[in-house]
Amino acid sequence: MSLKRAGVLGATGSVGQKFILLLSSHPQFKLHKLGASFRSAGKAYKDAVTWRQTATIPESATELTVVECKASEFADCDVVFSGLDSDAAGDIEKEFRDAGLVVLSNAKNFRRAPDVPLVVPLINVSHLDVIARRLEAVASENKKKPGYIICNSNCSTAGLVVPLGALQEKFGPLDIVVVTTLQAISGAGFSPGVPGFDILDNVVPYISGEEDKLEWETRKILGSVDANTSEFVLQNDTKVSAHCNRVPVTDGHLECVSIKFKQQPAPSLEEVKRGLRDFVSEPQRLGCPSAPSHAIYVLEEENRPQPRLDRDRDGGYAVSVGRIRPDPVFDYKFVVLSHNTVIGAAGSGVLIAETLLAKGLL
Ligand code: NAP
Repeated sequence: MSLKRAGVLGATGSVGQKFILLLSSHPQFKLHKLGASFRSAGKAYKDAVTWRQTATIPESATELTVVECKASEFADCDVVFSGLDSDAAGDIEKEFRDAGLVVLSNAKNFRRAPDVPLVVPLINVSHLDVIARRLEAVASENKKKPGYIICNSNCSTAGLVVPLGALQEKFGPLDIVVVTTLQAISGAGFSPGVPGFDILDNVVPYISGEEDKLEWETRKILGSVDANTSEFVLQNDTKVSAHCNRVPVTDGHLECVSIKFKQQPAPSLEEVKRGLRDFVSEPQRLGCPSAPSHAIYVLEEENRPQPRLDRDRDGGYAVSVGRIRPDPVFDYKFVVLSHNTVIGAAGSGVLIAETLLAKGLL
C-alpha cells in the first residue's frame, strides 16, 4: 500500500511535535506538509521549532519547510492532523474542511458541533459511522467527496473515558462520576505554556475551562448516535463532577475517580477489575498498527500508576488503572493515568486515522 500523505497543522507546538514523532516512522502515513503561524512559515522545520521531546527530531521533518496554514498549501494531503491553538483552529479548520480536506483536530472549537464526531478511539470509534453514512449518501448522488472534521477530546477526558467506557460496555451506564485530576504541564502547550515560577514547588488548582470540558465531553463520548437522524445523543444518565489541578509533572495526567453504577447492586470488585482488564478496543480488533496490546493495564501494586513509571506503556497509547477499591460513598474508586500528548492528543488523532483507513473511509 502506498503511504498516505499527512499534513500537520501547529507542527511546532506540544501536540504538533508528538505528531511529528508518531508519523515520522508510521507504516501507513508519511509527513508531507507542516504548517504553523506566520512566525514559523518559510523556515526549515528544524529552525522553526523549539524541540522539547526526548527523542531527536526525525530526519523526515528536519528539512521540510513550514508553510502557513492555508488549505491551498495542503490540497494534496490525504489527511490533515491539527495541533492548532484554539484561537486559530476555528477559522483554519473550517477553511480546510470546506476545501474538501479531512481534518483530525485536537482543538476544542468543533467538539460540541452537532455534525462533528468527538472520538476517543479506544472507546467510541462507532461514532465515525456518521461520517461513513455521509460519504455513502454523497457517493450515491455522484457528488464530490466532502471534507470533514473529527475531533479528539480534551486530554484529561481522554484518560477518564477509557475505564468509564469499558465499565459502561460491560455493566451499563454509570450514575455518578467524581474525578480529581493532577495534570502535567505539557498539557498547557508551549506558547506561552506554564511559567516555571508558577508550577515549581506548587500545585495550581485551576485550569481554565477544563472542568466543564471533562463534564460535557465525557457525556458525548459515552453517548450514542441516533440511527435515524445521525445525531449524537449525550449519555445523560451519567452525572460527572470534575476538579482540575496542574502539577509539576512533564507528561502524564493522573486522575482520582469515584464512580457509582446505575445498576444496583453494583458488580463485585473482582468483576470490575476483570471488566477493565479484559476490555478490548475497536482499533485493537481492526489491527490498527498503533493500537496498544492492552487498552487498559490494571495495576495491582499499591502505589501505581505513576506518571514517570507508567505513562509510556504501549508507547503512550494504553491507559493504566490502579488502586481499584470500594468507595464508602459511591461504589468504587480508582486512579487512572494517561499520556496526555499521546492517547490524550496526537496519538488519538493517529489512531482515528488508522481506523478510518481500516474502515475504508480515507
Ligand atoms: P502549543 O504548544 O501552544 O502549540 C500551538 C501551535 O499552534 C504552534 O505550532 C503554533 O505555531 C500554532 N499557531 C498558533 N497560532 C497560530 C496561527 N494564528 N496560525 C497558525 N498556527 C498557529 O499548543 P498545544 O499544547 O500543542 O495544543 C494545541 C491544541 O491541542 C490546543 O487546541 C490544545 O487545547 C489541544 N490539546 C492539547 C493537549 C496537550 O496535552 N498539549 C491535549 C489535547 C488537546 P508557532 O510555533 O508558529 O507559533
